[in-house]
Amino acid sequence: MTTIAALVVAAGRGTRFGSVLPKQYAMLAGKPVIRHALDAFTANSQIDVVLAVIHPDDHLEYASATDGAALLPPVHGGSTRQESVKLGLEALAEFKPDFVLVHDGARPIVSNEIIDRVISTLLNGADGVLPVLLIAETLKRIDETGHVTDTVDRTNVTRAQTPQGFKFQKLFDAHQNCSGQSLTDDAAVLEQAGLRVATVAGDPDNIKITEQQDLHTTLQSLMETRIGSGFDVHRFGDGDGVTLGGVFIPMDKSLLGHSDADVMLHAATDAILGALGDGDIGVHFPPTNAEYKGASSDRFLSFAIDRLDQRGGALVHLDITVICEAPKLSPHRDKVQKSIAAIARVPDSRISVKATTTEGLGFTGRKEGIACQAIATIKVPTS
Ligand code: MG
Repeated sequence: MTTIAALVVAAGRGTRFGSVLPKQYAMLAGKPVIRHALDAFTANSQIDVVLAVIHPDDHLEYASATDGAALLPPVHGGSTRQESVKLGLEALAEFKPDFVLVHDGARPIVSNEIIDRVISTLLNGADGVLPVLLIAETLKRIDETGHVTDTVDRTNVTRAQTPQGFKFQKLFDAHQNCSGQSLTDDAAVLEQAGLRVATVAGDPDNIKITEQQDLHTTLQSLMETRIGSGFDVHRFGDGDGVTLGGVFIPMDKSLLGHSDADVMLHAATDAILGALGDGDIGVHFPPTNAEYKGASSDRFLSFAIDRLDQRGGALVHLDITVICEAPKLSPHRDKVQKSIAAIARVPDSRISVKATTTEGLGFTGRKEGIACQAIATIKVPTS
């Protein structure tokens, strides 16, 4: 039986990242960068053991980042990346793996496909294999003053990514033999030993987090767009006005309901909860609870936005259509839009407020009540 180990290297300090917390432990779409990387390997069915090499100062961060994950106890790295990998390989030796994949802990978006490409090339007999990307830009060498000295020929030049895969014993021996040098990846260690390294296609999303901006770029590729719908109706009763989108609009009736019967905010709340797959307004605020009697409905929408925040998501757009013969919404449209935007904590441009009638048909046509439908578009981390 073939044994495949993964070694995730996360012992660096990342001085370019400009934060007290090392970049491997920065939060990205609800979990630390390193956890994304580790999860990719523990989730791959061909990989038997996963080991991280960490900085001795990072024990607490690592423990909290990896809570509940199926990993070997971490080992401490050395003063260079090369030294850290060597220490990791020595710790893995007792498992006698046939192959090892070495991955940068600061590359959170490592797809199952790239891992499988590396493994299948190893199974086909390669001593080492490396994912690469072709370079589209022209390469310029510059001097200390930032001026161009020459144009670098980019023919056959590629960018090296990780995970890089190796026959375990070959990489182990090569590291023992070139100890003390400062090679920046493991393919270089194998090259130094005179062994051939094959290449497979890399993945443009598999970026290495180096600066804060990289976190934002990476986040976009981890987000998915979701749509949710909401619908609500409240019946008219005696009164002197209705509350729509948090705005009181005087008329010769009011809306009956357990809360303030704001159909717009109720439909909007359900649309967001729907997009999150997080139940509906009645689940979170049961009408049997006396606390919500007469309650201002902004708390419901605000709650749905909080749930979205907690999931690392954001509201992209709310499109709300009120269906009634009266009141006329158009004189109040701007105020209602601004009110909903304020409750949802987004710019006005992300809220659309529309109104229509049913041409005198049905319960809204008979002026028995107001209906409202809402469509929410949200972004959330892919789960
Ligand atoms: Mg309602």
